[in-house]
Amino acid sequence: MPSFGAADEAEMATRGCGPLIPPLSESMRPLRQQVFERVRASGLIPRVQVAKDLGVSPASVTTITSELIEAGLIEEVSAPRDPELGRGRPAVALGVRAQAHMVAGMKMSDREHSAVIVDFAGNLLANEVVPRRPGPMPLPEMLDAMALLLDRVCDNAGIARSALSGVGVGLPGFVDQAEGVVLWSSTLTERAVPLADAAQARLGLPVSIDNDANLVALAELWFGAGRSLADFAVVTFEHGVGMGFVMNHKIYRGSQRLGMELGHTKVQLDGALCRCGQRGCLEAYVADYALAREATTALNWGHREGQSISVLLESLYDHAQAGDATARSIFRRAGRYLAVGLANVVNLFDPALIILSGERLKFDYLYAAETLAEMDNLVINTGRPRPPIEIHAWGDLLWAHGAAALALSAVTERILMAPREIAAQ
Ligand SMILES: [Zn+2]
Repeated sequence: MPSFGAADEAEMATRGCGPLIPPLSESMRPLRQQVFERVRASGLIPRVQVAKDLGVSPASVTTITSELIEAGLIEEVSAPRDPELGRGRPAVALGVRAQAHMVAGMKMSDREHSAVIVDFAGNLLANEVVPRRPGPMPLPEMLDAMALLLDRVCDNAGIARSALSGVGVGLPGFVDQAEGVVLWSSTLTERAVPLADAAQARLGLPVSIDNDANLVALAELWFGAGRSLADFAVVTFEHGVGMGFVMNHKIYRGSQRLGMELGHTKVQLDGALCRCGQRGCLEAYVADYALAREATTALNWGHREGQSISVLLESLYDHAQAGDATARSIFRRAGRYLAVGLANVVNLFDPALIILSGERLKFDYLYAAETLAEMDNLVINTGRPRPPIEIHAWGDLLWAHGAAALALSAVTERILMAPREIAAQ
C-alpha cells in the first residue's frame, strides 16, 4: 500500500477520486441519443426491447421515442407477428425513417475521387468515381474537385445538392478530425489546411473530414465485419499504409487526433526514406511507392514519364506470378516488413480481428502464408491464438461509405444534442 501524508489525505477527501469524466461526455451520451442509436443499429426493434437493452424503464423509452417520431427521425413499422404470442394487437417495431436525411461521403485520393450518397438508414442511393491526375494539388483545385464530384453524385441520385444534410470527406495523411484541419496530405500542396471550413464555405453544407484509414474502420464498424466487435484494427494499403483502430466500439484517435499512424512506426533504424521525410517507416517498405522503387532498381526498369505506379505494380505482379525470382523477392521482403508491423499491432493492442483493406491486396504475395508465419514468430508467445486476419480487398466506394457514416454521425449528433425545440422542427 502506498502511504500518504495526513495533508495529502485531507486534500484527497476534498478532491475525490476516480476518473473525472465530464458529464454528457462521449462515454455518457444522453438517453435520447442512446435510444436513437439502439433503434438504428437494430434495424427494427420493439419499444420494450429498447428499454431492456438500455436498462431503463419502458415509460421513459415511450416518452423519448414519441419525441423522436414527432421529430421525424424514427417511425413505427408493423413487424412480423411472433406466432407464439397469439392474437392481439399487431406487433409494432421502431425503425429509422430512412428519408429523414441524406448525406454524401467522398474519398479524395491520389488516383481517383469517389463518392456515395446514403439515406438516414445508411442505404446506398448513388455513387460516382472520377479519375484524376496524380500528385498534390493546391486547396482551390481540391475544392473544385470536391464540388464537381458532389454535383455528379447528386445528379446520379436525381437530387439537388441542397437536399443533403451533410458531407463526410476522407483523405490520406495527418488529419485532425475534431478541428477539421489537414496537417499534411499527399493530395494537398499546402500544410495545415482548414479543409472542413473551406469545403463547408464552398459546398454550402456542413462538412466533416477524417483520415481515410479511419473511414475504412468506420465503414467496417457501421456496415461490415466490425459491427459486433469492441476492439479491432483495419490496416489499409494504398499509396501509403494506414490504420484505423476501433476501441470499445469507437474509433480511437489519440489526444491530438494524430494516433495510430502505423505506416510511420519505425521498422528499421536509418532505413529506407519515407514520404514523411523520416527513415525506416513501415510505409517505406510496404506501400506501393516502396514496391515501385524496388522494381525500377532491381528489374532495371527506367522511370518512364507518365507511367502510373499502378501499371508498374501490375507488371511487377505479373513477373512474380510468372516465376521471376527478383519480382518475388520484392513482394516477399515487403511481406516480411508487413509481418513486423502487424505483430506490433497485436502485441500493443490485442485486437479481436485485423482486417487488411485496399485494392493493393490483389497482390496476394503481401499476405502469403510466409508473411503470416513470420508474424506468428513475432507475436508474443502466450499459448493463445493470435487474432484472425481477414482480407477485404474492396475498392474506394467502401471508403466513401465510411465517409458517409462520418457525415451521418455528425448530422445525428447535431440533431440529437440540440435543444429539443430545434430537434422537433
Ligand atoms: Zn514515414
